[in-house]
Amino acid sequence: MASAYLIKPHLHRTYPIVQYGKGIYLYDTDGKKYIDGCSGAVTANLGHGVQEIINAMNKQAKKVAFVYRSQFTSEAAEALAEKLNKHISRHTHYWTFLVNSGSEATETAMKIAIQYWQEQGINGKNKILSRWLSYHGITLGALSMSGHPTRRVRFVPLLEEFPSVSPPYCYRCPYHCTYPSCRLRCADELEEAIIRIGAEHIAAFIAEPIVGAAGAAITPPDEYYKRIRNICDRHNILFIADEVMTGLGRTGKMFALEHWNVEADIVTLGKGLGAGYTPIAATLASERVMEPILYGSGVVMSGHTLSANPLSAATALAVLEFIEKHQLVQNANKIGGYLFEQLRSLQASFGWIGDIRGKGLLIGMEFVHPKTKEMIPSSLAFTDMVVTIAQKNGLLVYPSASGNGKDGAAIIIAPPLTMNQEEAAEFVDLLTRSFVEIDHDLPTWMKG
Ligand code: PMP
Repeated sequence: MASAYLIKPHLHRTYPIVQYGKGIYLYDTDGKKYIDGCSGAVTANLGHGVQEIINAMNKQAKKVAFVYRSQFTSEAAEALAEKLNKHISRHTHYWTFLVNSGSEATETAMKIAIQYWQEQGINGKNKILSRWLSYHGITLGALSMSGHPTRRVRFVPLLEEFPSVSPPYCYRCPYHCTYPSCRLRCADELEEAIIRIGAEHIAAFIAEPIVGAAGAAITPPDEYYKRIRNICDRHNILFIADEVMTGLGRTGKMFALEHWNVEADIVTLGKGLGAGYTPIAATLASERVMEPILYGSGVVMSGHTLSANPLSAATALAVLEFIEKHQLVQNANKIGGYLFEQLRSLQASFGWIGDIRGKGLLIGMEFVHPKTKEMIPSSLAFTDMVVTIAQKNGLLVYPSASGNGKDGAAIIIAPPLTMNQEEAAEFVDLLTRSFVEIDHDLPTWMKG
């Protein structure tokens, strides 16, 4: 039974009550079946009800579920840090700080970056630059970094003005250029911002390798991150990669920055780390970043009561073992390739599918005016219409932002990395049926 007193995302809507999940499917208490085409919020990367993970959780819960991090460490947390370090880089080591949500991971990244400079006697480097059309979390520090106008608007007086540069949004290039003749002007904007603000005030630059919630999988041109890394190095600024959405296989690489052979100084993980089985996230800091802290105060000044709790750590460890054992990174490439091909073929029938972008199983679809390619006004609530019709047909897709962050309509398609070929075909079939229905009922503005 639904309670009137549980605060749900929209207080005037009725939400289906979930009964159980199995693989890529969810079932509600009315017996309706859904394909989880977006892994919830790009989180349930292994799908639902995976027995290996449930077994690992049981085993750990029977041993000990919680210890406080200043009193004990656990075998699970130690093993998790080892495994993340093994996966992330062949060139350097990364140390893991465990937290409980992506927002906390962002906050921790910010604090470690500032502390890195302080430990060297440099106290003025306190700003974190970021991009517009970005999302790094809902807590005030993370929201300060997030270039997400609709999530910022109520709290602007409390926020720092950290977003300062344009995203690498080729479909709507802020300079009306095309790649490669643009010469990556959007990346050079970072250098201009650093010079304007002064590198002596800036601790780090943070970016999502592929933009998630705020930009429906905006994917940069190939040399973009090499240029960003170079600018950060030349101006003595750390580079933080927010891999909360992109990390752990989602884009067809273990870490999305691997697509461009670039390494960050600090990397955040969340969502897919617990894969929805437990709240867990992590901030990984490279040896370079850890050294001054290690030989300085010896204390990373952050943490939460539930940080590194054994139950969550054991769950995340089992998730990583499952990804390795079932070669889910490879599967994300294979099924992602198939979905891209199928979705691109839909563009011929539905002129309002403007852009399809992303990598692996992180796919963004931006909707536009079919003739002019203008962004869809927010007053038409078109994203909402797409999500609602798909859900009615038993398909979950994730509402995203695009355009200028206020107007624009887009969704993210991001099924569990375990999806097989047959399920992918079923997904395409349901999406096509939903699009036919939407096409039938297109808002007048989109017909003109
Ligand atoms: N960073 C990114 C890239 C995200 O997509 C999100 C969540 N959408 C966050 C940070 C914040 O994570 P959480 O909601 O777990 O706090």
